Amino acid sequence: MKVLIINAGSSSIKYQLIAMPMEQVICSGLLERIGSKEAKLTYKTADTDREETLEIPDHKTGFRKIAAYLLDVNIGVVKNIDQIEIIGHRVVHGGTTFSNTTLITKEVKDKIKALSILAPLHNPHNLEGIVLAEEIFPNANQIAVFDTAFHQTMPEKAKKYAIPNYFYNEHHIQAYGFHGTSHKFVSEKAITHLQKKDSKMISIHLGNGCSMTAIKNGRSIDHSLGFTPSNGLIMGSRSGDIDHSLIFYLVNTLDYDLDAVSTLLIKESGMKGLTGSSDLRDVQSEAEKGNQDCILALEMNAYRIKKYIGAYVAALNGIDAIIFTAGIGENSNLLRKMICSDMDYLGIVLDDSKNEMKSASLREINSNSSKVKLLVIPTNEEIEIAKQSYNLLRSD
Ligand code: AMP
Repeated sequence: MKVLIINAGSSSIKYQLIAMPMEQVICSGLLERIGSKEAKLTYKTADTDREETLEIPDHKTGFRKIAAYLLDVNIGVVKNIDQIEIIGHRVVHGGTTFSNTTLITKEVKDKIKALSILAPLHNPHNLEGIVLAEEIFPNANQIAVFDTAFHQTMPEKAKKYAIPNYFYNEHHIQAYGFHGTSHKFVSEKAITHLQKKDSKMISIHLGNGCSMTAIKNGRSIDHSLGFTPSNGLIMGSRSGDIDHSLIFYLVNTLDYDLDAVSTLLIKESGMKGLTGSSDLRDVQSEAEKGNQDCILALEMNAYRIKKYIGAYVAALNGIDAIIFTAGIGENSNLLRKMICSDMDYLGIVLDDSKNEMKSASLREINSNSSKVKLLVIPTNEEIEIAKQSYNLLRSD
């Protein structure tokens, strides 16, 4: 069965066609800069690697172009559009409504639209992707997989804010959590690897966005992102945790308006604000040359993660494994080393040579004496969306 995975953003569409249940990627690609005369479309299969620059005025034209590649007589991967039986859509916010992967109906679309108030930068584009996919692939089953769903198991004591109950009850203001598809994917891999279902683990997703999840017996019990994906860890350009009084100070004393505060904390802070670059590779290479701002930014980053590890070990009352994943988690042996240093009190001991080894598959990087398994697990949100979409239809 062929499953097409769609991740539609404000000016991009990321796609992958996956054969299930083999989890074999048939083709993948990305359309960027939708709305411009110089949009860029990539299309990759086992035999083809194409890149085209072309005018794509809107998402609809973009979807048509992707479909044309999939059906192309020479380099296409399907003979007709009906060979694609399932379309799995990434939807960022499922609010309290969606705790599971869901077959898309008119009611589901209405709810995703209503939830746009909680994710104005994501849900409207995810929904547009759904509506267009329905038009272009009318006979496929359309399925929504929500980033927030994995965190629906968080107990109230973890997800409620200590503000009057009215805001929780009437306005659904609470921590929702994000990166759920990634945390679910890697934690399931870890459970299989450890052969231990009743496990206590911490999953650390370090990419442009960064988050940590405390996972007990495969379920999320606490998470570092909250009502929006902006608090917790230091990220590429987001500050993570701050004292919220800083916002009042910026507005009342430094004459910022609220839009400027939002831009500052979401687009100009984090590693970018501290060093000038949001890309950890730049920060690391400058730190190696002795740049003090970059050295301190890396120390701050690792220190914040250490504090969350301590908090989650306490919340879990123990720890079997820590997972590192996403662009930084999978590739930065420097940051992993800084995070794991001086953590032997908690039974966390890194093996330096294992940590420095490069591999694209699951690997253990703890020393033999470490009580806690330290795992590097490549994430794959597309495979997870394909798996969940396929399993949903099979169980019907
Ligand atoms: P992601 O959002 O998962 O694509 O991750 C993007 C982040 O991963 C960026 O900050 C990159 O700098 C970082 N990254 C990618 N490759 C490496 C690497 N080899 N070493 C350090 N950081 C990396």
